Amino acid sequence: MNCRNCGGALRLNAGEEALVCDFCHTLVYPEPNEDGVRVFEAGAGEDCPVCRRPLMHASYQGKRLEYCTNCRGMLLDLDAFGALVQIIRARRDGLPEPPRPMDPKELDRVVECPRCHQRMDTHPYAGPGNIVIDNCPECRLNWLDHNELRRVTTAPDTQLNPDAWFAP
Ligand SMILES: [Zn+2]
Ligand SMILES: [Zn+2]
Ligand SMILES: [Zn+2]
Repeated sequence: MNCRNCGGALRLNAGEEALVCDFCHTLVYPEPNEDGVRVFEAGAGEDCPVCRRPLMHASYQGKRLEYCTNCRGMLLDLDAFGALVQIIRARRDGLPEPPRPMDPKELDRVVECPRCHQRMDTHPYAGPGNIVIDNCPECRLNWLDHNELRRVTTAPDTQLNPDAWFAP
């Protein structure tokens, strides 16, 4: 991707939400997509564990993550996940959405960590939302399918998953 101002190559620094032009110092923020995710035109070097397409560098609500433009799942570290849940829940307006029950079939799924290629822990998430989360304790990564973060952040505060045994 090149700078629209001077044509120079844009660079994406770790942790940042904008691409920067080294020549004229223009910052370029990709437009958020329908999920509110800013997707950079830069492969993260890891593949989606569900559909095997290359994951792209992306950011959401100021936090960097990796995003699959095909299935719209996201890979993010545990700290970013915890921070995002707090940020989004704090900004939430309107009433919580009625939670969907957990789908026990999701627990049987085999998801391979995109980084270390070991099988991820697939388990009920301890927080609200009734989701089944895939986690790699070695790499400290969570895989979230499309809408799982939304389910966590729009669920009523008091509704915790009684089946959960693991709190990230
Ligand atoms: Zn430039
Ligand atoms: Zn995918
Ligand atoms: Zn891993």
